[in-house]
Amino acid sequence: MQNSGYAIVAEVRHRELRTRLGLGAFIGATAFVVAPSVWPILWYSAVLLGQVLDEIVFSPLRRDPRVTPSAARKVMCCVSAALNVAIYSSISAYCWLYGGEVGRVFATVQVAGGLLHVSLHMHHQRALLLSAAIPHGLYFLGLPILWAAWNGVWHEMLVAVGCALYIGHLVVAVRQNSATTMALREANRKADEERARAQVANAAKSDFLATISHEIRTPMNAVISAANLLKASELQPAQRDHVAMLVDAGDVLMGLLNDVLDFSKIEAGKMELEHAEMDVRERMVALSRLWEARASASGLKLVMAVDEAVPDRVWTDPLRVQQILFNLISNAVKFTEAGQVTVHAGWCERLEGLRIEVTDTGCGIPEDRLPHIFESFEQVEAGTTRRYGGTGLGLAISRRLARLMGGDLTVESTPGEGSCFVLEVPVALEGQAAADADVVEPEATTLAGMSILVVDDHEVNRRILSLLLEPHGCELTLAENGAEAVELGATRRFDAILMDMQMPVMDGLEASRRLREEGANRDTPVIALTANAMDTHRAAWDVIGVADFLTKPIDPVRLFNSLAHACASRSTAPTLAEVA
Ligand code: ADP
Repeated sequence: MQNSGYAIVAEVRHRELRTRLGLGAFIGATAFVVAPSVWPILWYSAVLLGQVLDEIVFSPLRRDPRVTPSAARKVMCCVSAALNVAIYSSISAYCWLYGGEVGRVFATVQVAGGLLHVSLHMHHQRALLLSAAIPHGLYFLGLPILWAAWNGVWHEMLVAVGCALYIGHLVVAVRQNSATTMALREANRKADEERARAQVANAAKSDFLATISHEIRTPMNAVISAANLLKASELQPAQRDHVAMLVDAGDVLMGLLNDVLDFSKIEAGKMELEHAEMDVRERMVALSRLWEARASASGLKLVMAVDEAVPDRVWTDPLRVQQILFNLISNAVKFTEAGQVTVHAGWCERLEGLRIEVTDTGCGIPEDRLPHIFESFEQVEAGTTRRYGGTGLGLAISRRLARLMGGDLTVESTPGEGSCFVLEVPVALEGQAAADADVVEPEATTLAGMSILVVDDHEVNRRILSLLLEPHGCELTLAENGAEAVELGATRRFDAILMDMQMPVMDGLEASRRLREEGANRDTPVIALTANAMDTHRAAWDVIGVADFLTKPIDPVRLFNSLAHACASRSTAPTLAEVA
């Protein structure tokens, strides 16, 4: 809803108050010089009083500009405007009557100025404009007419004719101005409507992405898990190559999917940052380990350096910092054919944070492309995707993440010589100590003999879980949806439940809630195993109080750890329901 015309005038009048008072003082002083007496002083005092009254009457409109004023408030505003103008312009009558020739010229010009002033700042509201313009107009036309009639010098009526012409011009100008203002207001209203519509569409896009991510992750989970199982089996060398291709392609696809998800989360304002301890040097060593082989395979030297001024431990979002550095190093290695890639971490006093430079001796980026490489889906050359892979999302995500963290990501580059990307992020030097999670080492024997209820509507997922867990001695019971799980859970107690989220008949959240309510599995650890990677889904599971939240594709090591941890904490917890 837009501000009312009254509120706009109230705001403008308040803004102009000091100008009106200053001008009033000047006019009063001039009137005193033209015709010295006590009247100009009394006049200015009346002006001051009038302005105080005006402030009081208009102030509620300034406080709540979107509220439509009551009829009584509107009348008060119009009366106040008319009264103030009547007082303000009364000095012109004084100058006209007592100031001689000069006084009359001064009075005419002063009222003309007043008329122009109210026309400009009150045209937003017609009733207010008329209330202010009419008293001015009466002085403007009345003084020359009355003067000519009183003195019987009719040719002086020409002054009144000139004033009438001036008013005519002013009316045309004000109409034009009002039409422009109305058009502008209409355009603003439409823009507001469009913005609201875009926000709704954006929310729908976010939901759509959550669904798509679920749909893509489920078959991806099957592909990657099956490929990993194949990899661990006896294979011919040629078969091993084919499986390696499958695994690599799966990883690339997951990377793309995660990029698209990250980007849409940032766009929808749903990206949540973590706050955790990070060992800067350890993180750099880990990155170096990750990239060294790849860099030297391309004939590049990878140099990592951390300044002494950088504290060992800082508080930030370690995963996101690592994600940005990973992107930068990946690009540096990708776009450098010879020479070296240097990652240098320093301390930035201004920001009280890390300043990490990733410099390469690669092809560089032309100056006219530099501002665009941080835009989504932007690549310097059209053939980049074909030649090097990538989507043009990495830098867009990285810069947005850096800015979300309160820092920035910038670049300097010389074509043919190389590029230097600078990541600056503010960090805290201490934070809340994280509750030390009990880390349970996965023991081969821990899982043996465990009875696990697997709930998933996709047959391929159930098969993969069987393939992963049965060789470790787990005893699996399979259910196709939440309702089946609740039925099975009513009669039999399990050591752990692996629960999918979206399923027909009854979803995983509802089934977990029911299993928790009563029956043999009230305290059985539930591990959410879902393709829904969005933070909102994680929050929904947190409300139920699941033991862990694992996303697909299934990472076997995480799955074993999670099961071992859930069962270890359960064996020490009091049992609420024993099976008869
Ligand atoms: P991509 O997935 O294509 O690598 P990015 O957003 O990470 O997407 O990078 C966008 C583009 O910026 C790249 O395609 C490349 O043209 C250019 N670029 C990024 N880093 C470098 C670099 N270190 N040297 C030269 N060009 C780079």
